[in-house]
Amino acid sequence: MSDGGEGARRAGEGTRAVRAGLPEPVKYEPPLPGPVFAAHFHLPGEATGPYLYGRDENPTWTLLEQAVGELEAPGRDDVETLVFASGMAAISSVLFSQLRAGDAVVLPSDGYQVLPLVGAQLEAYGIEVRTAPTGGDGQLEVLEGARLLWIESPSNPGLDVCDIRRLVAAAHERGALVAVDNTLATPLGQRPLELGADFSVASGTKQLTGHGDVLLGYVCGHNAGAMAAVRRWRKIVGAISGPMEAWLAHRSIATLQLRVDRQNATALAVAEALHRRPEVSGLRYPGLPDDPAHKIAAQQMRRYGSVVSFTLPTRVRAERFLEALRLVEDATSFGGVRSTAERRRRWGGDDVPEGFIRMSVGAEDPEDLISDVLRALDESAE
Ligand SMILES: *Cc1c(COP(=O)(O)O)cnc(C)c1O
Repeated sequence: MSDGGEGARRAGEGTRAVRAGLPEPVKYEPPLPGPVFAAHFHLPGEATGPYLYGRDENPTWTLLEQAVGELEAPGRDDVETLVFASGMAAISSVLFSQLRAGDAVVLPSDGYQVLPLVGAQLEAYGIEVRTAPTGGDGQLEVLEGARLLWIESPSNPGLDVCDIRRLVAAAHERGALVAVDNTLATPLGQRPLELGADFSVASGTKQLTGHGDVLLGYVCGHNAGAMAAVRRWRKIVGAISGPMEAWLAHRSIATLQLRVDRQNATALAVAEALHRRPEVSGLRYPGLPDDPAHKIAAQQMRRYGSVVSFTLPTRVRAERFLEALRLVEDATSFGGVRSTAERRRRWGGDDVPEGFIRMSVGAEDPEDLISDVLRALDESAE
């Protein structure tokens, strides 16, 4: 059975997830071959072929790249996928391989908290960095003359959404490339390349792998020249995934649809429960019908993620709430099978209120989780 072409496009998403990237069956071999630990490969004669040196290629990456590509761009054989050591390695590889001194880039002002550090580094190399908010398609206002538009939708941690098709059309009209950070949605929630983007980039550390035990990143794209530059960047900085991490990621993708469907349905239920609480303000979840982002989200997303954000009245109240939770660990990151939550301002980076909480909904029973959250809200009241 081959999964790459028409069959993959037609298959249901659960089917595609469990089979993604599997090689043709070989008698007495496991369905998903184990990690290949190799710094180099036997290479008599000419230095050509698929596997030469471990910083450039690895068979375990090849299968994972195939799997991610089948989910991000089902049925397309013009899309290339590259895996990286982390989401930041993937993001930096796109930005630093595509931009030159004198170029302008548009970043979100409310994106992942490490983006401003990347922006400062780009500026140090003579690249003009412009920022604008994700919500209200704010980045449209600063596109003129830009070489690259970087979108993060839904944004982390504010969960704003922009109209990706509209921004892509405006950017392409002006000759700019578009990259979308697809971390929060996962490829089962959103397929940026189908919405017109040139790159879909993500941290696989979050819901894609979902167990909080792997750092990983990837870049998918259909522009062969642009992808060759990204590959070259991976080679020169060596931002490569270890074979064990790549294999764990591939194994985890088999349950992606199960995890995403469970976690996202529970996230909606948690958001609905929080909605009824008077001490909760600024509640955001793109799947809530009255969320400000819901209308656009529904046009471009098929699932709305496992992250809910909201604000409690004070820092102290938020800290007491986090402490009172029993099933939700106070930890950063998101998308894992065990629920986590944190007071985001403790990092200092995000422009959010002191009582702002980002909660990542895991795979626990929804009733258990919701009663834990409601109990912790009661117990943390002044
Ligand atoms: C976590 C995250 C990243 C960075 O990923 P790492 O794997 O931690 O390097 C990038 N973008 C978003 C939206 C994230 O949530």
